[in-house]
Amino acid sequence: MIRTLTTLICFIIFTSLNAQTDEAVLKKIYTTSLTNGKSYDWLNHLSIQIGSRLSGSLGAERAVTYTKAELEALSLDKVWLQPVMVPRWVRGAKEYAYIETAPGKTNTVNICALGGSVATPSLGIKANIVEVKNFEELETLGKAGIEGKIVFYNRPMQADLIQTFDAYGGCVNQRYKGAVEATKYGAIAVIVRSMNLRLDDLPHTGSMTYDDIPVEKRIPAAAISTNDAEVLSTMLQLDKNIKLYFKQNCKQLADVQSYNVIGEITGSQFPNEYMVVGGHLDSWDLGDGSHDDGAGVVQSMDVLRLLKESGIKPKRSIRVVLFMNEENGLRGAKKYAEEAKQKGENHVFALESDAGGFTPRGFSFDCSDANFNQIINWQPLFKPYLIHYFEKGGTGADVSPLKNKSNVVAGLRPDSQRYFDHHHASNDTFDAVNKRELELGAATMTALVYLFDKYGVKNN
Ligand SMILES: [Zn+2]
Repeated sequence: MIRTLTTLICFIIFTSLNAQTDEAVLKKIYTTSLTNGKSYDWLNHLSIQIGSRLSGSLGAERAVTYTKAELEALSLDKVWLQPVMVPRWVRGAKEYAYIETAPGKTNTVNICALGGSVATPSLGIKANIVEVKNFEELETLGKAGIEGKIVFYNRPMQADLIQTFDAYGGCVNQRYKGAVEATKYGAIAVIVRSMNLRLDDLPHTGSMTYDDIPVEKRIPAAAISTNDAEVLSTMLQLDKNIKLYFKQNCKQLADVQSYNVIGEITGSQFPNEYMVVGGHLDSWDLGDGSHDDGAGVVQSMDVLRLLKESGIKPKRSIRVVLFMNEENGLRGAKKYAEEAKQKGENHVFALESDAGGFTPRGFSFDCSDANFNQIINWQPLFKPYLIHYFEKGGTGADVSPLKNKSNVVAGLRPDSQRYFDHHHASNDTFDAVNKRELELGAATMTALVYLFDKYGVKNN
């Protein structure tokens, strides 16, 4: 009885000490990030000095050189570049578009080519417009209603969804698949309402596909600002015969050599168990990619630095991976996962930050119930930092290829209400990122990495 009691007391003391220790470590991580963080300085350079980083561009190349040098300056155990071939699409001269209500009577509107789109003929395209909200309406209209016209997809993001990524998910097929679907009915171009919850004048780009449509049959695809989508829709209601003119000058060039940038702190006890933190180094070309995904890049870099600064020597190998080409190909993520598989590297945990540099709320996890029960036990440790969102769900495009039966893949979940004001638009710029919000995100990621490293990934 006494023995059992002693064991119990020892256990209580041990666990409370342990909890105390974790609380203290988390406090240290957050304090270091908020008083001596590097993420904001790095983002400043990445956004202001380098700027946009579309795959294959000079900006992307400079970002590779810069982040590699900065990781080297952290005295990690290893820093290297992983070669990967990436697509190279260029926008060319700025797009131009107007609505024509009568010969000579025009009203200019703001558009931008979707990433991967073909150009219009050199004199542009002018045609009648048919507005639809979804692919089913295309089917109803059929060839008779669509052939020779510009299809205008105008389904807005759903405003009453609290998770704005759900609103995005509910709309983005118009952008991604819109050209493929419209081609079936003989459309000559597509214009898509920007994926933006507010009304403003900025067109938002993003990736689109042609699937297996041969090059000569591909139709140009562009995004129109939400304000101009409203104008176009209203004018169409007044007069079905108005026309839209637009010209864009984009081009798909040959693939070019680029790189994932990788840094590692080698584990002291289990060097062959890998934990990844990452974001994507490439961005769209209209802004400077500060939220998408400069924020995720610098936060991930700072995870390794914050671990070192906080005196934590990880048992497992911690890697920061700055993935190339998430936006228009995911080649970097595929390459990393493929090579990890070839080498038989055991990735026990991966965490991505690719939802903007806003106030962190928590994480979403792709894992088993047993894994999730372990994670939920850590939730109280995050309470002082107002981190409360621990849910199972989608994680991130770059880390998902690393998912296997037993590991945990996670995504940082910042507040998402303002994200789509900036996403893939010319106002995704450094001034839109708040220093403290960014630093809180870096600390939150570091805290989770610390806990997974300390306790391992439990499967039962
Ligand atoms: Zn992104």
